[in-house]
Amino acid sequence: MDWYRRGVVVALVLEYYQLLRSVVRAKPHLRACLTRCRHCRIFFLTDPRNAGRHGLGCPFGCREAHRKAASAQRSSAYYGDAPGRQKKRLINQRRSAKAAVPPPAPPPRPVQWNPEIVEHVRVVTSLIEGWRVSRDQVLAMLAKNLRQHSICRCRQIDQTVAWLNKETP
Ligand SMILES: [Zn+2]
Repeated sequence: MDWYRRGVVVALVLEYYQLLRSVVRAKPHLRACLTRCRHCRIFFLTDPRNAGRHGLGCPFGCREAHRKAASAQRSSAYYGDAPGRQKKRLINQRRSAKAAVPPPAPPPRPVQWNPEIVEHVRVVTSLIEGWRVSRDQVLAMLAKNLRQHSICRCRQIDQTVAWLNKETP
């Protein structure tokens, strides 16, 4: 329920809230897009199409978790009756028959971003920029950010090592 008030994410959430506050301060019209998650109560900016709507799930896990729960419920309702159960057994048999032959290993993929987060970043950057940012643009931006981040981190470590070398006799 209050995952963002506990544990290691607290510092990240604080940083996120500070950013969110400065964005809304700089662009007061975005206040209309500010909403709270129905499940965990975290604040987030939503698509202008959802502006003013209540009862939305946040893109940080609640929306996905509740969609999964709903689809599991639908599936158990669908396969619940006797012919349905048989159908499910058949599907599972087919699945295990396929599983017997190991599929070729897929080529290593660079980074798998959570699609919910990508969409959220896309909506928020579109809101801040004032034009429609595409998913590909967000992915390019995230990849660039990640590269810079690791460069920064390496540099910091290098600097610390250099400093240690200098300080220790
Ligand atoms: Zn939530």
